[in-house]
Amino acid sequence: MPLYTSTTFERAADGSFPKGFEYVRDANPNRNAFESCMAALEGGCEAIAFSSGMAAIAAMMEAHVAGRCARIVLPVDMYFGIRSLITDTDLGQRFEFITVDMTDLDQVRAVVSSGRPTLVWIETPSNPLINVVDIEAVTNLAHSAGAIVVVDNTWGTPALQRPLAFGADAVVHSATKYIGGHSDLMLGVVVLPAGSNLGMPLRAIQKHKGSVPSPFDCWLALRGIQTLSLRMKAHSANALAVAKALSAASEIETVLYPGLPHDPGHGTASRQMSAFGGMLSLIVCGGAKTAVRLTGAVKIVTRATSLGGTHTLIEHRASIEGPETKAPPGLLRISVGLEHPDDIIDDLRNALDVATAD
Ligand SMILES: *Cc1c(COP(=O)(O)O)cnc(C)c1O
Repeated sequence: MPLYTSTTFERAADGSFPKGFEYVRDANPNRNAFESCMAALEGGCEAIAFSSGMAAIAAMMEAHVAGRCARIVLPVDMYFGIRSLITDTDLGQRFEFITVDMTDLDQVRAVVSSGRPTLVWIETPSNPLINVVDIEAVTNLAHSAGAIVVVDNTWGTPALQRPLAFGADAVVHSATKYIGGHSDLMLGVVVLPAGSNLGMPLRAIQKHKGSVPSPFDCWLALRGIQTLSLRMKAHSANALAVAKALSAASEIETVLYPGLPHDPGHGTASRQMSAFGGMLSLIVCGGAKTAVRLTGAVKIVTRATSLGGTHTLIEHRASIEGPETKAPPGLLRISVGLEHPDDIIDDLRNALDVATAD
């Protein structure tokens, strides 16, 4: 579609807006197209786009806490930015939160029956431990307690899993990652199913608080989406090849990837995902020192944070998250890109040799 960079749209002589648009923050052609596309991909009814994944997540939480005593259940392992959102901004003071290991349904059951939650937040696969949460089972437990469920589907994408089909009440995305797919845009979105009462408050936050994406970022995201299903297949195939190759290395303690048959998330992921995704974590023997040395020795793989682009990225999660981190010291998170899998594997094997040589 064409890119409309206009911030304002002309009125007709009678004062009406014949193109249906008035001012860029309220609505614009590229944002509308991106929102309709995301709603369709997730099997939802409406999508509301924001300037980043965090803006979408903050808006989602604000829309939920408005006017009620909110109790939010969060997973122990989740995107670090959400922890910072709660500890470093006023949002965290506006609700109570409980954290739980969401891979353990008994723990979830105990928390929803005793904690009277109003919202249960799911992230699957999770950052950085690549935990797989059973969306349908957790959603059923949450609903039985009268709570709504929000799924952060950034790592799955609608090409691999569609949480609304399992009963979730909203899906959030950092479209900065796989949706954009080329590490060149920043964008977030909330997708709602038919009959949701969150649409109105989210639109109000979008319009009046103004954390809106640019038309260009929406345009880029639509271009990325044209190859989303192909990219996710290729990311998943490459990640599986890397995971298999590296799990054979004696210097690696564990490869965390649900595509591996022995991974604790394998069964659930096989049921709810069409492929296992492009994200994996390694825990190297030798802890932080070996892990950091490994990142220093890669040649094709790029040392950088973020994920979901065409290039393979590696990072030592504990270093970027700082002292508050829950990431194991030897953990390296890898966003497996679209290079030839043998090149990625050779590079990581070489780097591992360098890191473990004395
Ligand atoms: C990156 C990310 C976010 C935050 O998105 P931004 O676009 O960086 O604001 C939220 N959740 C997950 C799972 C992410 O990977």
